[in-house]
This record gives sequence, structure tokens and C-alpha cells, in this order.
Amino acid sequence: MSERVPRAEVVVDLDAIAANTAVLRERVGRPLMAVVKADGYGHGMVPAARATLAGGADQLGVAVLEEALALRAAGITAPVLAWLHTPGSDYAAALAADVEVSVNTDRALAEVVAAARATGRPARLHLCADTGLSREGAGPADWPGLVAAAARAQDDGDLAVVGLWSHLAYADAPTHPTIGAQVRVFEEAVAIARRAGLTDARLHLANSAATVALPGTWFDMVRPGIAVYGLDPLGGDAAAHGLRPAMTVRARAALTKRVPAGVGVSYGHTYSPDRETTLVLVPVGYADGVPRAGGNRAPVLAAGARRTIAGRVCMDQFVLDVGDDEVRPGDEVVLWGPGDSGEPTAQDWADAVDTIHYELVTRVGGRFTRRYT
Ligand code: PLP
Repeated sequence: MSERVPRAEVVVDLDAIAANTAVLRERVGRPLMAVVKADGYGHGMVPAARATLAGGADQLGVAVLEEALALRAAGITAPVLAWLHTPGSDYAAALAADVEVSVNTDRALAEVVAAARATGRPARLHLCADTGLSREGAGPADWPGLVAAAARAQDDGDLAVVGLWSHLAYADAPTHPTIGAQVRVFEEAVAIARRAGLTDARLHLANSAATVALPGTWFDMVRPGIAVYGLDPLGGDAAAHGLRPAMTVRARAALTKRVPAGVGVSYGHTYSPDRETTLVLVPVGYADGVPRAGGNRAPVLAAGARRTIAGRVCMDQFVLDVGDDEVRPGDEVVLWGPGDSGEPTAQDWADAVDTIHYELVTRVGGRFTRRYT
């Protein structure tokens, strides 16, 4: 029986994720929370989480409770923080699963306290301060009240405040003046919390960019995501930070055909070869997370050379013009990977379609088969 060859696959190098985690952990010399939300940035949450733990991660971070519960359901026992909740969240389930939660408001804190009383399980709580991102967190006006309420609940035995944290707006621009300003606001918020008696909490502020570039933001623990997956949070060369991209995205040519000069290629005929040529049909499209904006812009590797996608990316497929090079049905086309075998990187794609590699890796999926190495 001949071996079945996947039509399209996302290959995830778990050793790279473990090694990247170890590099970052070694660099900061303090605890590291590996961020594995959004299905491990498209790499598969549970395998990615295990790889980060193998690489020395001390804790896992996710956005929503469902993600944390999925980690527990998979048997992962490491500390997990879930930080994004809505009113009526099932905090009782979080506490039953020993998931740490973060709150931004008195209302959410009251819900956590109620869940702790109902279940008889004290919460392990993080308080989030909005230090200038204007996203999650309590702003300076609300922070003292939130801290005081949390301190009372801690005294009552309903919870232990184990983290104080915030998030930076411009970590990927390491000289941006808002960074220093946010650090100062964070330090003030921490001082208020300390005075209220929250003395045991770990302080965490640094995402990947801050982890690689801003030692002044490391505090007690760093919280990297994208760098764990080997992508440079500063948009440059990951190898410069000792990181290796963990994801390779590839597909097999479905069809090749010789066409005369002047044919119109794909919807709207936005591409037309100026000579007789070979077109190659690649069976992945925007329904699989290949950005439609990649049409006539994004690079791929086929038959040993980089090519730009010819014409529009369709829902299930796109076309390449390979000239007189030989490509046969079944041959491999690499969309992005580590970049060391001539293939484009996710950063190359991000540059080509005017987005960030985060968006590319978290969206790729659809009908790709995922395989781990
Ligand atoms: N912390 C929080 C609150 C986040 O939302 C994220 C991701 O967006 C991270 C940490 C990790 O960020 P990065 O992937 O840039 O390291």
C-alpha cells in the first residue's frame, strides 16, 4: 500500500517550542508564564503547553476559562492563569479545577468571592492594573478600591492574591516613552497593593517583546507568547534572539498545466502571464487561514524557488506561475516555516500582506492536518 500524503499540513516542531522556552527562561532567570491561548497561537494548545513545560515554563497563561479547563481536562496540572472573563463566568468551575483567575473590577471580585464561599475553595487571584493600554485592568481611580476589597477577601480566607499584573502598549517599540510611563504607573499600583497588605503577589508585566528587549519590565515573572513559538516579537530575525520558528505550513500541488501567454488567472483575472508558462494549483485557501490579501503578494517556496501567488487566493485554493520549472502534482509547496531551507517565514508573509505573524499563525487551520515532530 502506498503511503498517504497529506494534502496540506501544519507541521509543529515541539522541540523548538521547548527550546525557545528554555532560551527565554534562561535569559530572564526568573519564573516564566508561557502563554498558550488561542490554541497555542495556532500550534495546538495542549501539545504546545506540554512543550513549554518541558522547556522549563513555570506556569501557563490563557485568555479564557474554557482554555484553562481544556488544559486541565488534558491532564495538565501546572499552574494556569485565565485572565479574560465576563459577568457570570463560571468561577466555581475555575476554582474546582485549580485555575487562577484575574479580575479587573469589584463586581468580578465579588463573583469570585461568592464562588469561593460556595465551593469552599479559596481562589488564587491576580489583580490587573490598567497602566496605559486602556484595555483590561482597573485604572488608577478604581485600583485602590479593588485592592482594598481583595485584601479584605484575603483576610477573610476567600482568596489569596498571588499576582499583580499589567500589559504594555508598545513593548515592540523598546524605546517608546509609554513603556517607562507604564512601568511607573505599575510600580505605583504595586505600592498601593503592598500597603493594603497584598505582599505575596508575583508581579508580571512583560510579554515577548519585553522579555527579549526590556529587562526593566521583567519584575517577578515574564509572560511571553509569540516568542515561545519562535517568532520575533520585534518583527525581525528570530535567530537573533536564539529562537526557532516552530510552525511550517505546506501543501501538495493538486494540478499543473501549461497555458499560453495572456490567460487570466483566478477570480477577476488579476494576474496574467506574459509568456507560455506552467500554472500550479495549490489546494489551500482563505477558508484554511491563508489570507486572501496574499493574492499577487505573498511568497511561497515551490521547486526550489520563491514564487509570488498568482492572482487571487480563493476559498480552497490558489495558483502559482512557475514558468518553465518542473513541478508535478504532489510536489511540495511551502507557505512558511523557519526560513532556513529557502522557504518564506511567517514574518515574510506578514510583511507581504500587511499584518503581524501573530494573526497568520493563529488563523491557519481550517482543513490543514496538524502534525507534530
Ligand atoms: N499577556 C497578555 C495579557 C496577552 O494578551 C498576551 C498576548 O496577546 C501576552 C501576554 C503574550 O503576548 P506576546 O505573544 O506578545 O508575548
